[in-house]
Amino acid sequence: MSLAGKVALVTGSTSGIGLGIARALAGQGASILLNGFGDAAVIAALQAEIAATGVGVGYCGADIGKAADCAAMVAQAEREFGRLDILVNNAGVQFVSSVENFPMEQWERVISINLNGAFYASKAAIPGMKARGWGRIVNIASAHGLVASADKSAYVAAKHGLLGLTKVTAIELANAGITCNAICPGWVLTPLVEAQLNARAEREGISVDEAKRRFLAEKQPMARFTTPEQIGAAAVFLCSEGAATITGIPLSVDGGWVAQ
Ligand code: NAD
Repeated sequence: MSLAGKVALVTGSTSGIGLGIARALAGQGASILLNGFGDAAVIAALQAEIAATGVGVGYCGADIGKAADCAAMVAQAEREFGRLDILVNNAGVQFVSSVENFPMEQWERVISINLNGAFYASKAAIPGMKARGWGRIVNIASAHGLVASADKSAYVAAKHGLLGLTKVTAIELANAGITCNAICPGWVLTPLVEAQLNARAEREGISVDEAKRRFLAEKQPMARFTTPEQIGAAAVFLCSEGAATITGIPLSVDGGWVAQ
């Protein structure tokens, strides 16, 4: 499974799943370009923590919803580390509302970060991967890339679109030494989900623990959250030589969510 000598860019890796993936790839020896928002001191501490494992670490504050930022971020990886071998399109946001009440600017925001950003970063990263004859693109979609839930129109549309982009990218690059796959998590306890748990606890007058129980019971046969480390392990597998002929798939890591 060693990724020694490889360079990975993980978007949205200052928190949650992206951070779990960055740590897992670094654990296999890959140098990492972190991306995402957050407190500068916290980000510096994350860089130091990952660098202590002996790999190169950089940071780019690109806004993934902006094409020019994504191109500059890929160029930064190639400049600082000499190459970009692994791109994990993970940055994502959520907004919850019915279609008829969905604010236009929230629709634009969710689509631009969750879908357009993966296209922008992939477009920028592919030429270098092609030139070197090796690459891995891992798109972090969702169970909501395969099935829907009420009140998540922009998110579900973006994640379904991301699976379409995954398939097209995989087919186009099938003989270029580059694979493109998606991971479709179910519930993972991160700030993105904590915001939804807190909102539900308040709305229904229940504890956050009861909100967790209800969230899981409604969607997943397994009454437990997947961890960012487990999503990281799935990403490491997709980047390994063992997965060299796996391309264009949605890999569900969802406690049985879409098996029902
Ligand atoms: P999170 O809120 O913990 O982390 C999101 C990350 O994205 C942060 O680092 C944040 O700074 C970054 N980010 C947000 N907007 C950005 C922008 N415009 N430019 C650059 N970075 C930006 O969320 P998470 O739960 O870790 O989600 C990560 C991914 O996993 C998302 O794509 C999400 O849709 C997906 N996902 C999450 C779950 C879950 O249950 N948590 C389930 C399925 C899929």
